[in-house]
Amino acid sequence: MAGGGRVVVAGAGLAGLRSVTELRERGFTGQITLIGAETRPPYDRPPLSKKVLTDEGLDPSLKADFAALDVDFRPGEAATGMDAETLATNRGKYPYDRLILATGALPAALPGPGPQRFLRSYDDALALRALLKPGLRLAIVGAGWIGAELATAAAARGGQVTVVEAGPAPLASAVGAPVGAQTSRWYAAAGVHLRTGIAVESVQPGGLALAGGGWIAADEIVTAVGVRPATGWLEGSGVWLENGVAVDSGLRACMPGVYAVGDCAAFESRRFGRRLRFEHWDVALHAPEVVAANVLGGDEVYDPVPYFWSEQFGRMVQYAGYHGDAEQLVWRGDPAGPTWAACWLAVGRLVAILAVDRPRDLLQGRRLIASASPVDVGRLADPAVPVKDAGIPRLTPVFGAGPDVGHLVSWHRSTPRPTLSSVNGCHSSTWPAC
Ligand code: FAD
Repeated sequence: MAGGGRVVVAGAGLAGLRSVTELRERGFTGQITLIGAETRPPYDRPPLSKKVLTDEGLDPSLKADFAALDVDFRPGEAATGMDAETLATNRGKYPYDRLILATGALPAALPGPGPQRFLRSYDDALALRALLKPGLRLAIVGAGWIGAELATAAAARGGQVTVVEAGPAPLASAVGAPVGAQTSRWYAAAGVHLRTGIAVESVQPGGLALAGGGWIAADEIVTAVGVRPATGWLEGSGVWLENGVAVDSGLRACMPGVYAVGDCAAFESRRFGRRLRFEHWDVALHAPEVVAANVLGGDEVYDPVPYFWSEQFGRMVQYAGYHGDAEQLVWRGDPAGPTWAACWLAVGRLVAILAVDRPRDLLQGRRLIASASPVDVGRLADPAVPVKDAGIPRLTPVFGAGPDVGHLVSWHRSTPRPTLSSVNGCHSSTWPAC
């Protein structure tokens, strides 16, 4: 490919920006075009539901010097379609040798004619910050991570906050009802009215119509019922879509030369034996290392122990792993107390951990998950015993024990590959005909 080739990146969030910076850091000298639907330069989303809501001075912009990076950044331009050679936008066409899909996710909306707000973009957060005032009757639909963080900020600013959740407990869909229920008392202590097991039928002017005939009056309504991968524009393109862009363990889509990364990508996790999609900042930060390596001819695998954090009601809540196949839940400490952890086990091994104000448990737990060592449940349940000491050393590797993230990162960085690979076919045995 003359001049090192052309890489086009669709989506200028964290994953898109990290993809272009990784390509340059690895010595790629070809042409890079970054297409972003938003008019702003890339920014970080985690602060939007935290400090941006309460702190006027906080700017979440990510440091991106596109001139120094020699990246053709196209803000305010949306990708509308693609084929095997060209990305189409609302403004033009971009031929590519490699295409990285990083269009993230979009919030789901509720039915009904009433005005509903969301908390996904910087502009959403700025608009909400201007509204959060003492006495504001704010109804938040969804007691997930974003709903809890917004409730924290709104209550701190004197709002009358009601959180309506269809599931049996906060965070029930993310971490299961038994663990999520332990956070209910945090809402009450903050003066937030939590109503679980209540389905919203529609958003109406002035409030929420509930299934079964109830009504919740509100000045403002924020819908926080989850997000969907922003992949509608790829329908009919030939890229396999299944809960986002389906990619293999090297983040390659089924079309040659096409990759996906971040919130929009469902990747084959060797560690957990299935294709998974995460909406985690840490994934958007690190997965681009693998994409860049593979765009440049590598054959690297993305196989992290996924990590997520949330700051809610004055607590740091951290989660690592994936508990989809867990058989056993072990409590570490009293969940009614100020600090505790919940540990999920499968086949006698730690597969996920949620830690409340116990960062060391999280760190050690993440390493223990990566090691796939069997654990001593009694020691794991004792908060006085370090999590790392709950692992039972084993002499031979077992299935599913992939490399940890730190190992992958150092391996990538010591393996520069400055040109695009000449071959990038379907590497996965799980693709349908493509
Ligand atoms: P995005 O950040 O969504 O970026 C994708 C970009 O692509 C967007 O700018 C979008 O406008 C653009 N785009 C979409 N469609 C198109 C198109 N057709 N053409 C061109 N551009 C397009 N994670 C944590 O681990 N901890 C947290 O505490 C945490 N807090 C969060 C708080 C909030 C309010 C939000 C919204 C998310 C939070 N997350 C958190 C999740 C984390 O921010 C995301 O996982 C991460 O931003 C994903 O990055 P991304 O680049 O894949 O997607």
